Amino acid sequence: MAFENLSERIQKALKNLTGKGKISEEDINKASREIRLALLEADVNFKVVKDFIKKIKQEALGKEVQESLNPGQQVIKIVNEELTKMMGETAVGLNKSKHIPTIIMMVGLQGTGKTTTVGKLAYHLQQTEKARPLLIAGDIYRPAAIDQLKQIGQQLDVPVFNEADEKDVAKIVEDGLAEADKNKNDYIIIDTAGRLEIDEPLMEELERVKEVALPDNILLVVDAMTGQAATDVAKGFDERLDVTGVILTKLDGDTRGGAALSIRAVTGKPIIYTGQGEKLTDLQDFHPDRMASRILGMGDMLTLIEKAQQDYDAKEAEKVAEKMKANTFDFNDFIDQLEQVQKLGPLDQIMKMIPGMANNPQLKNLSVDEKQIAHTKAIVYSMTEAEREDPDILNPSRRRRIAAGSGRPVVEVNRMIKQFKQARDMMSKITKGNTKALQGMPGM
Ligand code: GDP
Repeated sequence: MAFENLSERIQKALKNLTGKGKISEEDINKASREIRLALLEADVNFKVVKDFIKKIKQEALGKEVQESLNPGQQVIKIVNEELTKMMGETAVGLNKSKHIPTIIMMVGLQGTGKTTTVGKLAYHLQQTEKARPLLIAGDIYRPAAIDQLKQIGQQLDVPVFNEADEKDVAKIVEDGLAEADKNKNDYIIIDTAGRLEIDEPLMEELERVKEVALPDNILLVVDAMTGQAATDVAKGFDERLDVTGVILTKLDGDTRGGAALSIRAVTGKPIIYTGQGEKLTDLQDFHPDRMASRILGMGDMLTLIEKAQQDYDAKEAEKVAEKMKANTFDFNDFIDQLEQVQKLGPLDQIMKMIPGMANNPQLKNLSVDEKQIAHTKAIVYSMTEAEREDPDILNPSRRRRIAAGSGRPVVEVNRMIKQFKQARDMMSKITKGNTKALQGMPGM
């Protein structure tokens, strides 16, 4: 995950402050030095770093340290606020047209993830707004790009407009707009050509597309892996096209993260989404405050909660909570829960979003055993409906039958049932407000 090193180092710099009753100027200078190095090493633009450190020092030294406050925490708060500001303060969404369609033009260098992101954005709009987008294939130099877009369109059941023999991209876009008008599409997303670096013919072509399409959004797709260079590219595109926002892709990779931190400060343009994987579902809204908390190791609880909410019905959760309280949580609920959690994504990634977990050294080697989960499911699926509803009737002969049905040894079936009952009892106690029940738990 991006930012891992940066988080570790900033947290270390701040940790030295947290135990202190009073913080001296020397303490702040020392922490600032370490943070400065960490940011530079993460490939954050040096000017941005300079401004950042200046502000931290000003704020930290200028503040009267209130006795009621832990001074270390006060500094962390300042760093958190400044990091958030550096990335843009508040989340910014798409510009919406007053009349349909809202037009989005995607631009960026080749290989940054433009075409993939067109698909991700279409999916995102389908999910969040029940949108009916039309995609326009404007990258005519790479036949593979058109096929790629068509395939994405098929997967999402979204129309893709292309003209195989037309060499003028502006004309294709014009025809695509007419097609969208006919079909009453509410969004148009235009994929455009990219090059390995910015060149004049490309810029001229993009300017012509802009003239024809009059887009509400020009989104620049930037690959976070390219680090520092990404900000130069962003500046180049912005000067010619006046982009409205940035999508930062490949944040799931092992990047140093500096691009994410500097792009807003250098271009003044907001990051609107981040791409965090190759799948069409891997697009997320960008929240500067959450990203800052993530870097400072406070986890990304809000993103996790939002992700859960997207797939999870609050009423369902309430029902489960009631059942836990009444100690009637059964194996059907258990399987539901397991599936809900699995829907969120790979468990090791979810764990990293939990505060305090992100940099837990034990997590480095964590691999959640998805196979084990599959076994547990197999055991539950081998139970009859009556057994699932009332685990207390699971006598030895029933357990033997379940073991045979699921292909798992009887001891494993026994262990699973025992653990389930223990967990159920504990949940019931906790939901009734008896937190003492937690004290026997490992890690509590
Ligand atoms: P384009 O040339 O800009 O249209 O780039 P593509 O959409 O063809 O993407 C180039 C490569 O980057 C493909 O292999 C994508 O799967 C990959 N890619 C795109 N976005 C992401 C992302 O957010 N994370 C990762 N890991 N890979 C991505």
